[in-house]
Formats: sequence, structure tokens, C-alpha cells
Amino acid sequence: MAIFIDYDLCTGCKRCEKICPYNGIEVKDGKAVVNERCTSCGVCIDNCPENAISSDIKEKEVPDFRDRKGIWVFAEQADGVMAKVTKELLGLGQSLAKDLNQELSAVLLGNNVGHLIEELQKYGAQRVYLAQHELLSVYQTNPYTKVISEIILHNKPSIFIIGATPIGRDLAPRISMRLNLGLTADCTELSIDQEDGLLLQTRPAFGGNLMATIKTAYSRPQMATVRPGVMESKKIGTSSNCEVIHVDSSLTKEDVVTRVLEFVGEKKKVVSLNDAKVIVAGGRGVGSEEGLKPLFELAEALGAEVAGTRIVIEEGWLPVERQVGQTGQTVRPELYVACGISGAIQHRAGMLGSRYVIAINKDERAPIFEAADWGIVGDLHEVVPTLTNAILNRKGK
Ligand SMILES: Cc1cc2nc3c(=O)[nH]c(=O)nc-3n(C[C@H](O)[C@H](O)[C@H](O)COP(=O)(O)OP(=O)(O)OC[C@H]3O[C@@H](n4cnc5c(N)ncnc54)[C@H](O)[C@@H]3O)c2cc1C
Repeated sequence: MAIFIDYDLCTGCKRCEKICPYNGIEVKDGKAVVNERCTSCGVCIDNCPENAISSDIKEKEVPDFRDRKGIWVFAEQADGVMAKVTKELLGLGQSLAKDLNQELSAVLLGNNVGHLIEELQKYGAQRVYLAQHELLSVYQTNPYTKVISEIILHNKPSIFIIGATPIGRDLAPRISMRLNLGLTADCTELSIDQEDGLLLQTRPAFGGNLMATIKTAYSRPQMATVRPGVMESKKIGTSSNCEVIHVDSSLTKEDVVTRVLEFVGEKKKVVSLNDAKVIVAGGRGVGSEEGLKPLFELAEALGAEVAGTRIVIEEGWLPVERQVGQTGQTVRPELYVACGISGAIQHRAGMLGSRYVIAINKDERAPIFEAADWGIVGDLHEVVPTLTNAILNRKGK
């Protein structure tokens, strides 16, 4: 594949040089010249005002996908208990299904997990593909990949979404590789393009500095993993029917190349910021580990969990499981109190689902105020104890 410059048309305007993400084209002696860094991405072709740039790259033909129908959700479970993210994905699946006027299905694998069908139905599944086998009783990469790949090949869904949990992050790329499908990992938003009906898969890109929206044009199903805690689950009641399709898999012992000997639970106390109704979060503005003390006091008065920005975790002021943000946890509390947090996009990515946000910052221009319902401009070391005292006084303590 090569990029060609028509020197009769090129005016040396440098538009291509500025727009090339790889510095693969430069203007020398008033004309554009392609260098060894060019990846033939074609950005310069689309942006040349003189139509002086062309290539021998052929437009890929989009296959006919009219027989691909349905929105599928991977119903993650462990020990017969549904993962919370499954309900969130079904909530999201309901709106995608409505937009496309297609059915919402869940894919449930395990052993003795039939009791979960009712729960899947309550959260919106109109159909459940159920594969039960003793070799599926605990999650293992190979058998799960094989069974799900077979179900996909036989039933041809249009969209398949999986939670970006440790299991989902292991499973999704394996299915994508086996079936030669595109996959967008770690999405924070999914919606339908009203023009072409394709799935718009939005995720942070370039170190979280911008949000990229990706479409899968050339393969089906369109596959994405979605971060837990980002979507809302929506119960629909039990009135609607749910069709159950029992899947006979061709699974044999040879498909299982690893053996699970035992599960060893983490000993340390697990902080579930995901379930917290109120979170008091601290940023670099707290100044030190000692500076977090007033936040813990406010949290106790509010019955809240304490969380922090990445800086606070890197400084060792809070343990890593309390980090909120793109590389930490995604939270959706009723109330998020952000103290001494600037509001960087990577932090906001983890707390934007909060119902109400109160921001306390001494800099009135701090971006966190854009995400806040109420803002207090002031020193957190004065404001936070004042808030705590006011709450305790109200409670009569
Ligand atoms: C790939 C990548 C992933 C990342 N992931 C995450 C992530 O998951 N979570 C995360 O949080 N960050 C993440 N970051 C880091 C992020 O970009 C920011 O650097 C970080 O969120 C800033 O933390 P901060 O708000 O505590 O600190 P700062 O940006 O330094 O802000 C401190 C704020 O405190 C205010 N302040 C100072 N003193 C006081 C006081 N006495 N009273 C009141 N206000 C005061 C200041 O005005 C300032 O606004 C990531 C970055 C990258 C590149």
C-alpha cells in the first residue's frame, strides 16, 4: 500500500504535515513528501484541500449482515450468583434493543444455574441461551470460549456485550480472536448510530485525554466490554415471556487444558465503593495522610466510604482499592463529595454517574466545579470540619 502525491496539484500548504498523527509526511521545497514513518492511514488523503494525495488502498467491502439480529449480553455468574454487571448490561441492552427494535438475549453458562433465568428475565432478557455442563461449573477460558463461539456461529447476533470484569477481560478477546471479530474493550458508553444502526462504542483513548467512539463495520457481532458500575440496571417485572434455548455443546474433557485446584479469597478487607451510597473523596489538596482525617470524620457522620484520586493512592495516603477513576473504580453513589480534587478527565470518568456532586476546592476555576451540583470555594481543612459539625449538630450529637 502506498501514498502518492500529485505534484502538479500540491501547493505545499502543510495541512497534511499538521494533520498526520505519525509525522509521516512533510513539506520540503514547497511540496509534500511521504517518509518512512507513514503508515498509510489515509488521514492526509481525506484532508488535502487540493485532492493532491491518493493511494492504492482499496475500499474494503462491507459484507451483507442483514441476517444478523439481536442484542446479546454475557450473563456472568459465579457459584450460581449473578454478577452485578450482568444486570447493568441488561439495563443497557434494553435501550439498545429498543433503538434497533430487536430482541435482548442473555447467554448463560454454568452447571445447575437454571434458577438464574428468572432473574435474567426480570432485568429484561427476552431469551436465554442456556449451556449447562459440569465442565462449565467454574469459569475457564477454553471451554467458555468454545461454547460461546459455537452459540454465536449458530445464532448470528448483531451485538454482544460483556462486562469488563476479570472474567470478561479474559473471555472477550478469546472469542474475538477465534471468530475474527472486532472488539472494543472497556467502554464507558454504548449507543446506536441513528443513521446506519451501528453500535457506537465509546471509551477513553490516548491515556484518557480524549474519548474515542468506535464502530465495527466489517464483522458481526459487534463486540464490546463495558466497565462495571457505568450502566444502570433496570428491572422490568415478570410479566413478559422469556424463551429458554437449551444449548447442547460439543464440549469434551480435551477442551479443558487447565484444572482449577482451589479458589483462595483475598484476605484484606474489600472496600466496595461500587455499592456505597455516599462517598467522600480526597485529592492532592488534602496535603498528607493526616490531612485525610477530617474526610474520614465527615464520612463517619454521613455513613460514607472514603475514596481518593490517583495522586492520593500514589502518595500512599489511601490503599489502591479506594481509587476512583479511569484506572480505579467506577462509582455511582447518591452523593459524591470531592475535596481538594481538580477534576481531571481521568478522575471524572469514574464518578460521573454520581447522582449529586459537591465539590470543595480553593481554586474557583477548578474543572471539578463543571461536574458539581454544588460548589464550595474554600480551604477544605476549614470547610470539611464545618460540614461535619453541622451534620453532627443536626443529629444532636
Ligand atoms: C492514563 C491515566 C490514567 C489515570 N487514571 C486516574 C484515575 O483512575 N483516577 C484519578 O483520580 N486520576 C487518574 N489519573 C491522573 C489524573 O490525570 C490527575 O492527575 C489526577 O486525577 C489529579 O488528582 P488530584 O485532583 O488529586 O490532584 P491535582 O490535579 O493536583 O488537584 C488538586 C486540587 O486540590 C485543590 N486544593 C489544593 N489545596 C486545597 C485546599 N487546602 N483546599 C481545597 N482545595 C485545595 C487545588 O486547587 C487543585 O484543584 C490518570 C492519568 C492518566 C494519564
